[in-house]
Amino acid sequence: MLDRDLRVVVLGAGMAGILAGIKLQEAGITDVAIYEKADRIGGTWRENTYPGLTCDVPSHHYTYTFERNPDWTRHLPPGGEILAYFQRVTEKYGVDRLIAFNEEATRAEFRDGRWHLGFRSGRRDTADVLIAATGVLHHPSYPDIRGMADFEGHLFHSARWDHSVSVDGRRVGIIGNGSTGVQLVSALAGRAAHLEHYQRTAQWVMPVQNGYFSEEERRAFRDPSVLEQAMDFAGYNAAVDAYTQAIIDENSEGARNIAEACLMNLEQGVTDPVLREKLRPDHKPLCKRLIFSPDYYQAIQHPDAELVTAGIDRIEARGIRTRDGVMHELDVIVLATGFHADAFMRPMQIIGRKGVDLESLWADHPKAYLAITMPEFPNLFMLNGPNGPVGNFSLIDIAEHQWRYIGQLLDRLKRGEAAEICCTPEALERFESERTEAARQTVWFRGGCHSWYLDSRGIPASWPWSYSRFVEKMAAPRWEDLECVPVG
Ligand code: NAP
Repeated sequence: MLDRDLRVVVLGAGMAGILAGIKLQEAGITDVAIYEKADRIGGTWRENTYPGLTCDVPSHHYTYTFERNPDWTRHLPPGGEILAYFQRVTEKYGVDRLIAFNEEATRAEFRDGRWHLGFRSGRRDTADVLIAATGVLHHPSYPDIRGMADFEGHLFHSARWDHSVSVDGRRVGIIGNGSTGVQLVSALAGRAAHLEHYQRTAQWVMPVQNGYFSEEERRAFRDPSVLEQAMDFAGYNAAVDAYTQAIIDENSEGARNIAEACLMNLEQGVTDPVLREKLRPDHKPLCKRLIFSPDYYQAIQHPDAELVTAGIDRIEARGIRTRDGVMHELDVIVLATGFHADAFMRPMQIIGRKGVDLESLWADHPKAYLAITMPEFPNLFMLNGPNGPVGNFSLIDIAEHQWRYIGQLLDRLKRGEAAEICCTPEALERFESERTEAARQTVWFRGGCHSWYLDSRGIPASWPWSYSRFVEKMAAPRWEDLECVPVG
């Protein structure tokens, strides 16, 4: 059988879309277009530019496996260096030539065996295969706090940082203590004249080193064997396994070790007993995404910093009024209040076979078989889609494993062994029911907290099994779970 020439459209030029561009070319698929709604690549790392922006995954592990980076300056990669890395890779692998910027896809409909796409600009395109690499955390969540519009200072979301506003020497309030809020406090303590951190729920904070690599070390890392040794794969993989195991089993050794390390950090890192109690979490570790920070406790104890736990009553013209009646005068308020984690490629309208639309499939929560495919949405494959693994590890690795799976589906399409591939409704139903059952056993569900990991029903939306199970599932498709419509 002759190979089919597939036209593949990729939506999004962040980490996952760039990966797709590289892998498609590698597979000899040349008719590729990547559409990006913004004017530059980078996804998360383009949208987030807040002071202190860092990824808490060890830097040498936060790369594609086929393109390591010996040049990271720190143990944890700074946001600017991550963006520069993706820019470099995009050019090196010729992905830049495939990208059309300022093109936001608003509609995709599967008709007559192909995807028909519409864009906000009026552009239209068609494709045999559609890869959604549209990201996870990209729709900022604005809190419902009374009086926000009355504030006379500057107020913005952490993912929409207003660089025209100086925070140096100003009175700054940070609302939220997820990974973002904590990084912000570490960066701004000592810079702001007065820094207030508004905490609603105390967090578990894992200590981590974030030193600088010397020039000598970076030179040495150019030798792949030196870099590989420094990356300590055995240690890193064991940590990821212990982490996923701790989510599945809150009594596992990994869970105990994590709790102990965080508690010791709190006991030894915070001297004032009153502050220490305010910072003590009341839920199980890992129920929320673990905070990795080398210096948050130090930053919040800075003489110009203050942890505010009284609860926000409202925002007024001059600042924040807490529930105890106290008025906190501020010049700048930053909403580090997270994202709508259930949007994925929405608000795009996506219509599959038989007129089935994504909104109805996802009416109660986003779902996809193995996080990749959905029934009646043939040849639409997702990277970092719903129900995939999320946590304190690299999403780049996740996308690469997912590509292994998608690559095998593409091979079949390319070889003309199928014209359309998607999972069967039964496969999705079985996956969802097993996943939901397992999710109810995780610490995300049982740990006594609320987080963005939970869907609108309060069920954890992510992969509730071990990392190795995910790797294994991605290695080889179970073809009986997939509907392959023959060509012709
Ligand atoms: P987040 O984890 O969802 O945290 C949002 C914070 O805002 C929480 O502390 C929440 O409090 C608080 N909040 C929300 N509404 C509020 C309200 N009305 N009043 C007071 N507080 C309110 O958001 P994020 O920190 O931006 O992080 C989101 C995710 O992005 C992370 O989990 C992670 O996956 C990713 N991220 C990763 C890194 C990294 O280093 N790899 C860095 C930054 C972000 P409650 O806890 O009480 O709900």
